[in-house]
Amino acid sequence: MTETNPNEIVIVKSENSKINTVDFSNLIFGRVFTDHMFVCDFEDGKWQTPQIMPYQAMTIEPSARVFHYGQAVFEGMKAYKDENGKIFLFRPNENCNRINKSAARLAMPKFPEDYFFKGLETLLRLDSEWIKPGVGNSLYIRPFVIATEPAISASPAASYRFIIICSPAKAYYNEPVRVLFAEKYSRSADGGVGFAKAAGNYAAQFYPTSLAQKKGFDQIIWTDASSHKYLEEAGTMNIFFRIHDKLITAPNNDRILDGVTRKSVIQLAKDLGIECEVRRVSVKEIKAAAKDGSLKEIFGTGTAAVISPVSAFEHADDVFEIDQIKDSYASLFKSTLLDIQHNLSDDKHGWRYEI
Ligand code: PMP
Repeated sequence: MTETNPNEIVIVKSENSKINTVDFSNLIFGRVFTDHMFVCDFEDGKWQTPQIMPYQAMTIEPSARVFHYGQAVFEGMKAYKDENGKIFLFRPNENCNRINKSAARLAMPKFPEDYFFKGLETLLRLDSEWIKPGVGNSLYIRPFVIATEPAISASPAASYRFIIICSPAKAYYNEPVRVLFAEKYSRSADGGVGFAKAAGNYAAQFYPTSLAQKKGFDQIIWTDASSHKYLEEAGTMNIFFRIHDKLITAPNNDRILDGVTRKSVIQLAKDLGIECEVRRVSVKEIKAAAKDGSLKEIFGTGTAAVISPVSAFEHADDVFEIDQIKDSYASLFKSTLLDIQHNLSDDKHGWRYEI
């Protein structure tokens, strides 16, 4: 058996770029994909020669274990282009480490870091026209791994496919969201897979979230599964509370995703001299702060929307509206992060990664 190496990517270029058919001023998130994708199979106990090929449908047997047992993990990251055409990723090593943490929890093989970076960089160079400059414009990158072995016994697969697809994303002003604090359903449990970006974590949220939407809320803020007393995170965002001038966010544990945006906001708060407590935060505390007026902001953090302000929350049929203040921490962190991501400001923590 010959050893493969990530430098030997087999590249089949697309003959006709789709880029001229895309209206970049009217993008709906995650609907349009770039010309190419990166694919690498795990067979015979090792990752095989990586390939880049035109974005296309794939043939997978119906018995592939991913369809039956949900053995699948993914990541979400973005590439940005500055006015000089330079392309940057934001803390990509965090995503590489996290997909492997997720994979380990789902008994999947680790994807080597050099393959991850070589594949990503080669793909982004090929599809670089799809990354538009301008603050807020980006290319959303979706690396994922699925169990492809055609065998329906409930045990880890022997073969996997690692894929990267990319979708252009538009700068957008995100409307503040209305959220419901979870009282009945749970997203994750102690000892479970909440910290992993496991595909099933998301499917499990769709039904309770649709109930919340029927009540007029956009998202659920999940609470701890045992007592439903402590606020943890949203469906695809970590969550911060501002009481007076202090921020509070829940600590990482095996129920909460270790968000890259969350840890960046904690660092930026430190840099800006904003106190940020990482500790359990109870529903009771937030309701009391909303009542006495000390709750100034709630916002979510995540790669897709960067920062999403919350305009209202509901718990036990009590609804609290949160006035959107002018000099909010949410807008401060959003612009600070966007400036770093788009190479418009100093990068003192070395978060930018130039392609
Ligand atoms: N929590 C969950 C459950 C998520 O899916 C995400 C999105 N990856 C986040 C938080 C935010 O993480 P990040 O800042 O790394 O995008």
